[in-house]
Amino acid sequence: MTNGKIGVTTENIFPVIKKFLYSDRDIFLRELIANAVDAVQKLKALAGAGSFKDDLGDLTIRVASDEKANTITITDRGIGMTAEEVDKYINQIAFSSAGDFLEKYKDNIGGIIGHFGLGFYSAFMVSGKVEIRSLSFKEGARGVKWTCDGSPEYSMDEISKEDRGTEIILYLDDDAKEYAAKSKIKGLLEKYCKFMPVPISFGKVEEWKDGKYVETDKDEIVNDTEPLWTKAPKDIKDEDYMAFYRKLYPMQEDPLFYIHLNVDYPFHLTGILYFPKIKDRMDVSKNKIQLYCNQMFVTDSVESIVPEFLTLLHGVIDSPDIPLNVSRSYLQSDSNVKKISSYITRKVADRLEEISKKDKDSFESKWDNLKLFIEYGMLTDEKFFDRARKFALLKTTDGKFFGYDDYKKLIEPEQTDKDKKVVYLYTSDPVSQYSYIEGAKNKGYQVLVMDSQLDAHFVNLLEQKLENSKFARVDSAPVDQLIQKGEITRPKLQDHEENDMNYAFRHILPEGAEYNVKIENLGADAAPVLITQSEFMRRYRDMSALGGGLNFTGEMPASYNVELNYENEIIKKVLAEKDNEAGAELSGINKKTSELAAQIKEINEKNKDKKAEEISREDRDKKDEINKEIDECDLKRKDAMNKFADKSVLLKQIADIALLSNGMLKGKALNDFISRSLDLLK
Ligand code: ADP
Repeated sequence: MTNGKIGVTTENIFPVIKKFLYSDRDIFLRELIANAVDAVQKLKALAGAGSFKDDLGDLTIRVASDEKANTITITDRGIGMTAEEVDKYINQIAFSSAGDFLEKYKDNIGGIIGHFGLGFYSAFMVSGKVEIRSLSFKEGARGVKWTCDGSPEYSMDEISKEDRGTEIILYLDDDAKEYAAKSKIKGLLEKYCKFMPVPISFGKVEEWKDGKYVETDKDEIVNDTEPLWTKAPKDIKDEDYMAFYRKLYPMQEDPLFYIHLNVDYPFHLTGILYFPKIKDRMDVSKNKIQLYCNQMFVTDSVESIVPEFLTLLHGVIDSPDIPLNVSRSYLQSDSNVKKISSYITRKVADRLEEISKKDKDSFESKWDNLKLFIEYGMLTDEKFFDRARKFALLKTTDGKFFGYDDYKKLIEPEQTDKDKKVVYLYTSDPVSQYSYIEGAKNKGYQVLVMDSQLDAHFVNLLEQKLENSKFARVDSAPVDQLIQKGEITRPKLQDHEENDMNYAFRHILPEGAEYNVKIENLGADAAPVLITQSEFMRRYRDMSALGGGLNFTGEMPASYNVELNYENEIIKKVLAEKDNEAGAELSGINKKTSELAAQIKEINEKNKDKKAEEISREDRDKKDEINKEIDECDLKRKDAMNKFADKSVLLKQIADIALLSNGMLKGKALNDFISRSLDLLK
């Protein structure tokens, strides 16, 4: 028997292992099984190279636990270790054998999992004592037992061991007893070892017999040693990909498409990525891509490895070339990781482009579920934008799909404004903006549906990226103003008429918002009153609602433009009614106001060459006096218009109808509108 001290630089390695890695204690089992897998793969490589001529036999790795004794045992039939090797590989921690092994047999190794930092020593995260019993494959080798109770002291003995390979026995710490439970181990195996390349057994297959489950004598194999991504794409059918998806995510709806990744140079990477259906934000689930290293599960948070938008995809990526156990920032700056990331982005774009060309109809039918993903990618990844521009679709309110270039060609002739900009009309809600959409369609214009949560941002992006384009929501102004073809002729109004109508409408429209009433020529067929919110203001508010950092607008009241259509018969009637009811009073006030204005003008004329302080006291007082009178006139005008608004059923009715078609008429106001309408029918 030999005793010795483990060759680590610090005496305190065990407390460090226990404390620092405490949060991720679960990985110990993966690390030990990974070593066992390595040992088996090495033996297979030796056999392949002719250096091992015996029978390989059953190579299953066995995991067992004893809940009473609080032990876990991992047994493999791999290459095993001689006493010298235990001393070299186990006692001298920093020394990893994978390096020199690789050098020797690099052409025959199917894949060696290694370089996981602590590896074997992670056993001490959960165990007070660890025992290794090993018999090397080498001819004439003798069995060796190594024990260490958690202090840097170990002991080594020769033992008689019949079977080739290694057995690791963990004597669990008091605070880690839970790991002996079958369900706990099952969970860890399911998470970390599901696709490891060597069969792993835990417990026995159970059978339903006489009303209960009973154990058979057949080993339960917990893993699939040849998961789909390790196979050649040409041997895989569509349904195999779907079946594999269901195996990975039993509770999810079937995905839209998949991509099989397979690259050997300049890095190794295999995997299958799936495009899930994403209809809205609720569907977005990140951490669905699982990262493997030679079929060993590493993590399901891959955001430092792939661009953010790709984390919306599902599936697996397997690469031995992604450095593990390093910090995120290191990962992102690693050149392999950068290459891998842009490779995946390119593949995703290639695949989408291919499908969009090969099967246009199917691509269109899936667009609604794909769009959020693609728009997210286009918004966050410039390279992806440039690629996706070729296959991304725009959808019109008629349910037709167009590529960007085709759509531009389609609308250019009709929808180019006087500044030579192509105006893309869009709706964020085809139901509530129905009347505006109809208005635009009647003019022969196309309207796009941009109704996803990202579209407020996406519209901004497209406006920047598509040359000479302007995006306007269909309800943001009367249609002739959205696409201005020439100078708009303004109606000939009486003095103060627009101002007066402002008083009338503000008096009856709902409180809590600002209204700016304008009288315009909107065409005889257009509605009498249109309530619009300017594209700029609305985008500003939408963006801040989405968290664009402009949060103060949240406190600003909404402001609307109220356009009265001078060419509409009903508006003509309203204006006539106003003249009848309040015309005399208003023209009296207007006459007074003009006189006062003339007096001000006269004083100004007289003093036009003087500096402010040179104007006489008398003149200044007089001006103040007149201005006060003008204000009073204005108040009178307001009074008169409020009175008119209170009395005019017609005015209230058309205001309410405009509110109604914007979905803004609610509660008592809606009720009042209904009873007023019913009265009119009597
Ligand atoms: P790594 O796996 O990163 O090399 P470990 O500390 O996990 O580091 O293991 C150190 C070495 O011990 C391994 O490289 C291997 O040579 C040897 N070893 C560990 N477990 C086994 C095993 N089950 N069978 C054979 N050799 C093993």
